[in-house]
Parts: sequence; C-alpha cells; structure tokens
Amino acid sequence: MNKINNILKNKKCLKFICAAGNENIKEVEALSFVYAYSGFNMIDTAAKREVIQAAKRGIKRAEKSNTVAICVSIGLQSDIHLTKAVINRTKCDICENCINQCEQNAIFKEDEKIYIDEKKCIGCSNCISSCPNGAILKEHKYKSPCEMLLNVLSEDIDCIEFHCNSDNENLILETYSQIKSIYKGHTGVCLDRSKLGDDRIISLIKKMAQDNDNFIIQADGNPMSGKNDDYNSKIQTIAFADLIRKNNIPAFLIASGGTNSKTSEFAKLSGTAIDGVSIGSFARKLVKEEISVPDFFENKAAQESAIEKAKKLADTVLKYL
Ligand code: SF4
Ligand code: SF4
Repeated sequence: MNKINNILKNKKCLKFICAAGNENIKEVEALSFVYAYSGFNMIDTAAKREVIQAAKRGIKRAEKSNTVAICVSIGLQSDIHLTKAVINRTKCDICENCINQCEQNAIFKEDEKIYIDEKKCIGCSNCISSCPNGAILKEHKYKSPCEMLLNVLSEDIDCIEFHCNSDNENLILETYSQIKSIYKGHTGVCLDRSKLGDDRIISLIKKMAQDNDNFIIQADGNPMSGKNDDYNSKIQTIAFADLIRKNNIPAFLIASGGTNSKTSEFAKLSGTAIDGVSIGSFARKLVKEEISVPDFFENKAAQESAIEKAKKLADTVLKYL
C-alpha cells in the first residue's frame, strides 16, 4: 500500500500499460522489467494471476519491488480494452492482409487457415480495418468485473482499475459499488467520453468520486492509438482531462489513450494539470524489437538498447509532470 500512497502523494504517476488483454507471459515479464528499471512507477496488467506474477518477476529483476506498484485492469463487457479479435471463417479468404497489421504477432497462418492467439491479442482493432471481407470481429472473452477481481485477490496488488465505458450509468455505478465492497484498496476508473457525452460523464464521475479519498481517474482519449510520437493522438485525452479539472472534481488524474513522449508537455502547454501519464501502445512498440529476441534475459545488448529507449521516454514525460 505504501507504494501507491507514495505515488498519489507525489502526484507523479508514470504508468506502463501491458494491456488489459495481454496474457503473453514472456512479453509481460520483459516489458515490466524494462519499464520498471527505466523509471516507470506503476505497471498495469491483465486480471490473471499468471500475468500478475510475470509482471512481478519483471519488476523484481529490475530490483524495483519496493517502489513500482501493480495495477490490475478489470472491466465491463462493453469496454474495448477487454475485447479480443476473432475470425469468421466463412468470410475469410486467407488473403493474409491482417497478419502484418498485428503488432502483437497474434495472427498466424497454419494448415491453410488464419488463427488468432487469444493470449497475445490485446483487442487493439488494427486488424479489423485491414480485412477486405469484414471477417474479423471483436468479442468479450472475460467474466464479469467482480469475478475477474475475485480471481486475483490472493495476489499482492496495489490498485484496481475499472474500465467502465458504457452508456448505462446505473450498471457502471452498481458495478463500481460492488468492486469497492470486494476490494478495500485503491480503485481507479478508466473511461472516455465516447458513450455518454460531456454532461452525463461529469455527473457520473462526480457520483463515483463522492466519499472516495484519492479517487483515481484515467482519462482516456482514443484507446490504444498511441503509435506515433505526435501531438494529434492525445488531443482527446487532454480535452477530457481539462473537462474534469474545470468541473473541480477532486481526483488524481492520469492521461491515457494516444499517449507518448509528448503527452505531459502537451498538457502543460494546454494549462491542464495532470498527475500522471499512462503509456501503452507507444511504449510497447518502442522496445518491441529488443524484447522479441528469444533470449532477451540473457542478451545484454538487447536489454541495454530497450532500457536506453525506455529511460529517454520516462525522462521526457517526467520533465513536464
Ligand atoms: S491487431 Fe490487435 S485486435 Fe487484431 S489480433 Fe492483433 S492485437 Fe488483436
Ligand atoms: S484480412 Fe480478413 S480475409 Fe484476409 S486473412 Fe485476415 S481475416 Fe482472412
């Protein structure tokens, strides 16, 4: 609990997102090692015990177990972060277009059929637009948020993040209340404005923030869109964060969705006070080549190269926080 309390007190959260659907144990361990070592103070994982344990091993390898917190993502069925791609074989003509679009290497061809490795798929949707036949769909593959939470309660974790994009405010509030009755530690929420619009989402956030010390909001812009190191991808994120600040909601505010090395600088230039930045797609892609080598933990050159890039990212973001 001290780890998360220190992060909240210092108002400088630098979170690395493995992705709520990322169940690739080897990748999670390598990414957690690189980003914990390089100055990120929180690692966000899927709600699976083996994934949390992999993240912990990575943090331990980096010798940061006393300072780097683990945040576990759970979510509603309607939230994109908890969906995975599936192939409709009746429509697939095996053109292979989708294979190269997947940055998680989750799509492959075997025995003249296209498959998606469910454990590697993070639901980013990149493959969907590449399919000329509309043969790729998204499905929610997880249990309810509370069941997901109950399955990981035996792990020593530092906070829960509830991904709650839905147009059903009652469902969000009821589920959030159930989560808080199960888990007594810090519970943050991750949401964007796409389903509710400004007035309804502010009213919802105010209700969730009531009687909630250290309420954590991850203000999402365009989920899983941070591929390039530009300013454009994060405009939605900072606009939403600004809306939350202008409504005087007492919250620890983290920017996410389209985030990259320029996010904290952009927030500062916009006059929007944020307490942290979560980076997923951009950070994963940044070190993909290095962590993909088969012997990453024996390969000093690959480790050093990944750490050099990750440290540069961490230092740049922290400079403006
Ligand atoms: S491109 Fe994204 S959604 Fe499609 S299979 Fe790969 S990770 Fe999953
Ligand atoms: S792009 Fe569509 S049609 Fe082509 S291989 Fe992938 S799923 Fe099949």
